[in-house]
Amino acid sequence: MKPVDFDYEQAKSVDEAITLLTQSADALILAGGQTLGPMLNLRLVQPELLVDITRIDELVRVEASTTHVTIGACVSHAAVEDRRIADLGHDFLARVAGGIGYRAVRNRGTLGGSVANADPAADWVSCFAALDAEILVSGQSGQRIVKIDDFLVGAMETTIGTGELINGIRMPRLGASVRCGYAKISRKPGEFADAIAAIVHDPDRGCCRVVVGATDGLPLLLDNDALGLGPAVALPAVLDPGPVRDHLAWHMPVPDLYRLNVQCAVLQRALADAHAFPS
Ligand SMILES: Cc1cc2nc3c(=O)[nH]c(=O)nc-3n(C[C@H](O)[C@H](O)[C@H](O)COP(=O)(O)OP(=O)(O)OC[C@H]3O[C@@H](n4cnc5c(N)ncnc54)[C@H](O)[C@@H]3O)c2cc1C
Repeated sequence: MKPVDFDYEQAKSVDEAITLLTQSADALILAGGQTLGPMLNLRLVQPELLVDITRIDELVRVEASTTHVTIGACVSHAAVEDRRIADLGHDFLARVAGGIGYRAVRNRGTLGGSVANADPAADWVSCFAALDAEILVSGQSGQRIVKIDDFLVGAMETTIGTGELINGIRMPRLGASVRCGYAKISRKPGEFADAIAAIVHDPDRGCCRVVVGATDGLPLLLDNDALGLGPAVALPAVLDPGPVRDHLAWHMPVPDLYRLNVQCAVLQRALADAHAFPS
């Protein structure tokens, strides 16, 4: 099948993109096109207008301050993988980026497109949830900054409104003694994940976020007490499978033993990865 006929505009600025998006009742943003392309071809979306935002300089910016790193929405996975952008301090982002799909996907796919799409199996969705990232959203009334936990509403659902676009993702810089772990289980390399776990344990900031992703809905931010963890304690070598299993099962609308086992396994792998983290 081929897409329906649509108009195409290349926006030169965020303001121009917002104007174009609000002028047409059926306009869609085009970033890397890795999800939108197939959706167009299958006619799952039938826009009147595509607004290409990939040539907007502001959207490929990287700003690093002493407390945060902000990455423009149109920075590609490959740019992060190749370390062409400032890292949070410990190469965590580059490692996550390198595991996304295939190189051809990473060359074009963008961080903003991935977050906007809000696929539960998307790597950045879980990674940014563990990092407690903020999503910078531009619209007609200016910019709003939304914590990722509030930005994601469900599978493929966000709080982004008509005429709005993600302009960047802001992440805290990590402390010197941080330990980050990431693991995903896919049936074969390059496939979307069946299970993801991301851990950011940052004693300097008093934060420990353990996230299980690739669920049917939102990434699960696990309760540290239920896992026997806490921001002040050192990470245990292994997690006690009993409480972990109970905790994960509690989040499942319908108990699924296979899935539970996969989630427990990926969590233990992420923990091992956190222990191997360079500090
Ligand atoms: C074969 C294949 C394998 C893949 N494997 C993985 C994987 O293992 N892990 C993974 O995480 N991802 C994977 N992906 C997804 C890919 O990494 C892209 O990140 C994802 O498709 C969306 O990014 P994009 O820039 O291509 O967005 P697009 O396809 O251009 O857009 C996707 C959606 O987001 C909207 N959008 C785009 N940018 C913005 C913005 N700045 N603000 C608001 N809305 C916006 C678009 O309107 C559209 O609705 C895979 C994709 C393919 C094709």
